[in-house]
Amino acid sequence: MKICRFNNDRVGIVDGDGVIDVTDLFDRQQAWPVPPGDTIIRQIDGLKDKLRAALASDQARTPLSSVRLESPVANPSKIVGAPINYKAHIEEANADSEISHGHVYTSLDQYGLFLKANTSLIGVADEVEIRFADRRTDHEVELAVVIGREARMVTKEEALDYVLGYAVGLDMTVRGKEFPTFRKSVDTYCVLGPWIITTDEVADPNALELTLTVNGKARQGSNTSKLIFNVQRLIEYASSFYTLYPGDVIMTGTPDGVGPVEPGDVMDAEVEGVAKIQVRVAPGYATADRS
Ligand code: MN
Repeated sequence: MKICRFNNDRVGIVDGDGVIDVTDLFDRQQAWPVPPGDTIIRQIDGLKDKLRAALASDQARTPLSSVRLESPVANPSKIVGAPINYKAHIEEANADSEISHGHVYTSLDQYGLFLKANTSLIGVADEVEIRFADRRTDHEVELAVVIGREARMVTKEEALDYVLGYAVGLDMTVRGKEFPTFRKSVDTYCVLGPWIITTDEVADPNALELTLTVNGKARQGSNTSKLIFNVQRLIEYASSFYTLYPGDVIMTGTPDGVGPVEPGDVMDAEVEGVAKIQVRVAPGYATADRS
């Protein structure tokens, strides 16, 4: 099942080239304080039979091409990133001072994970707005894991039981010396989408081709089989430090081939069996006025 958010916070199930609006199945009245995580994602487990029934029904489909796809998670409690999780990316980073900025990258368990600000999150219909004209902003295509159930100190053997599904992620990054959590948290620098494909439709998340082109030119191409910490180990590692809540996103790391984007560029990214996305870089630099 492919779960999306579209047209100003409607919840949808994607069926071929159509979208079924299932918003009314969800309780959107929130108590205060809001429990951590995303209130819609938290309800999906309990609604799976009803969602499947909607998919099997003759309920009207809206053409996918006519809807505006927003980030499939509206309110994650956190977005977790893995900074150096492909060997070839570690090698390219250490060989390029514009990427490494004086760091010598070694292994993921020496650097740990980082968090991207939730306010950086956008969907595929939105544009990445480059913030700084005088600094390098890079693309990083990644398999994104969306958590479906609270996960605290879970083992890698049970880790996938806590996953709702997968999406394509772009971990846009300002290169520089500051901590990754700062450089990777710029508004619009986390693209997630176009939907969440549930785990039952992905046989093995650690065996997926992923590619990214900029303006039609190949930049990145690899396979999640090359992840140093695979999906299960990343969940084990992340949840050993903090509880993961429904809707939390783990960006699993980028392969080699990272490079800069400029205003007006078009990025096409694909994760095998998950989705193809096209995301535009806004034609101008970000300004204080976002209207
Ligand atoms: Mn990354």
